[in-house]
Amino acid sequence: MPPDLQAKLPELLPKVNAWVQTLIARIEREGTPISEELQALARRLGVRQAEAIRLLEVEHLPTPEDPELCRICFASGMLGANMTGLTLGYHIVVVRGCAHPKFLAHDFRHVYQFEEAGSLGNFLSIYASQVLACGHNDAPLEWDARQQEKLAT
Ligand SMILES: [Zn+2]
Repeated sequence: MPPDLQAKLPELLPKVNAWVQTLIARIEREGTPISEELQALARRLGVRQAEAIRLLEVEHLPTPEDPELCRICFASGMLGANMTGLTLGYHIVVVRGCAHPKFLAHDFRHVYQFEEAGSLGNFLSIYASQVLACGHNDAPLEWDARQQEKLAT
């Protein structure tokens, strides 16, 4: 992890948490449960509580309002310009037109990973440490999601 980022973590983590909670509340409010067919796909990817998944389609993926947090999320690979979806526990937000099983399989695998981690806090801290150490594409949780999405669709 870059030393400047390490020094900033205590200040950044509450901001990350606040942003994540706001986004989850929005998906809870505006999102919908997924179809039986998509629930079956999620179960094939290992998800235990597929009925808990909520999905929201948006024009553009939300990014943190705090400019510094936003910059760090993009610079570290936590967020990327080509990303089509974000998975926060059972809450998934995708760019309109990307709520296709082929794309969602990847997000559902992240839901499985979150269930395995035991809590969203655990999942995000494992995920963030992998992305910071290896970059987004080489993070083991991303490898796993890419492998499993191919097997399931
Ligand atoms: Zn992913």
